[in-house]
Amino acid sequence: MLSNSLVELDRRHLIHPVASYRGHEERGVTVLQSAKGVFVTDAQGRELIDGFAGLWCVNAGYGQPSVVAAATEQMQRLAYATGYFDLGSEPSIRLAAELADLTPGDLSRVYFTLGGSDAVDSAVRFIRYYFNALGKPEKKQVITLEQGYHGSSTTGSGLTALPVFHKGFDVPLPWQHRIPSPFPYRSPEGEDHRAVTAASVAALRDKVAELGADTVAAFFCEPVQGSGGVIVPPDGWLRAMRETCRELGILFVADEVITGFGRTGTMFACEHEGVVPDLMTMAKGLTSGYVPMGAVVMSEPVYQAIADGAGPDAPVGHGFTYSGHPVSAAVGLAVLKLYTEGGLVENGRRMGERLMAGLGALAGHPLVGEARGRGMLAALELVSHKDEKRKFDPALKLGERIFACAYENGLIVRAFPDGVIGFAPPLTCTPDEIDLIVERTRKTLDQVLD
Ligand code: PMP
Repeated sequence: MLSNSLVELDRRHLIHPVASYRGHEERGVTVLQSAKGVFVTDAQGRELIDGFAGLWCVNAGYGQPSVVAAATEQMQRLAYATGYFDLGSEPSIRLAAELADLTPGDLSRVYFTLGGSDAVDSAVRFIRYYFNALGKPEKKQVITLEQGYHGSSTTGSGLTALPVFHKGFDVPLPWQHRIPSPFPYRSPEGEDHRAVTAASVAALRDKVAELGADTVAAFFCEPVQGSGGVIVPPDGWLRAMRETCRELGILFVADEVITGFGRTGTMFACEHEGVVPDLMTMAKGLTSGYVPMGAVVMSEPVYQAIADGAGPDAPVGHGFTYSGHPVSAAVGLAVLKLYTEGGLVENGRRMGERLMAGLGALAGHPLVGEARGRGMLAALELVSHKDEKRKFDPALKLGERIFACAYENGLIVRAFPDGVIGFAPPLTCTPDEIDLIVERTRKTLDQVLD
């Protein structure tokens, strides 16, 4: 059978560095064959609803004809154009202009990357160039959050707080630092949201004071933390942190790789609080997973300082072969059209409310400690003892069990090893599809510990 030979070839040749929840070694990989809308079909012909939009990226849903046509047409017309030598291509220029238009405030200068990790790396490099240009080369330390995720390059994994990404790489690097995450369900301040925000502001001030304000360049955060377990900060937190960065003279960087492009109910999550970051990183929904692409978008003053400071003594040495790839950019333009004119951001906002209502109704389930989320980015945190918010024993391998059980029930979700279930469905979902995700989740909760 085709799928058996593929599984064997995969076992022999394809590296899956992050362990498969379905027991990659014993059972082998599950090959996905096709997808349409929010449903994927595996090699056994089984149809599943994708409650995670691939890896929180297929925001526009699978098999969108306008996206396929845009890619095909661009490949035929001009498959490649470098951004070096002052050359360019129409789609990359138009996409940069659209992003300048869609992002908040004076964010207006775009550098394209291949994904999120290199968008974060690029942001770090541009920030160094910025402070070098201002004659403050000692300002290079970066502060991030516990439970944060910013990629798996060496720079990105050091900014990431998840220990599995650190082992063996001597990261965090000496200039990378962290403060606690604003996590109402588990922070010492409990569910007192004002206190959680005040604690974060104090932690940032203390960390900057400890390191020396003259040495700190930036604070990076996800407006809703994704890979750390979908952690939603209190209302007002983002604005308070942004303002604190301004007071402290450090740059505020919003990593919207997951939260961008309608994922939380607005085009960008910063919009919920009218926050304008100095730099924003993005990827995933930018091309909805059809082709790789990311970007770092910076404010006009940040860009101007870098441009004015760049000379023979302060060169800006940064560039990727595939930066602004015309086919990716053409896909980006087609996808943006679906988000805006096609109404997907608005549909995602409405469906996000339905998803949260459905998951909220599961909060009474004996295994569910908390249902949380914003828009189409949500999670259930499972606990063994609700009153104590106690996590399950890791030996139980709850994450693997949840993934496998949900799969048997025709649902793909992200099952974090510690028992958090992540949801990030395509923004194209209908009410019935949202209800199906919730219903199959309920069934999974009822069965997972049998
Ligand atoms: N930043 C955030 C917030 C992310 O969630 C991710 C990926 N999950 C990245 C950066 C890295 O993106 P990529 O995997 O495309 O390199």
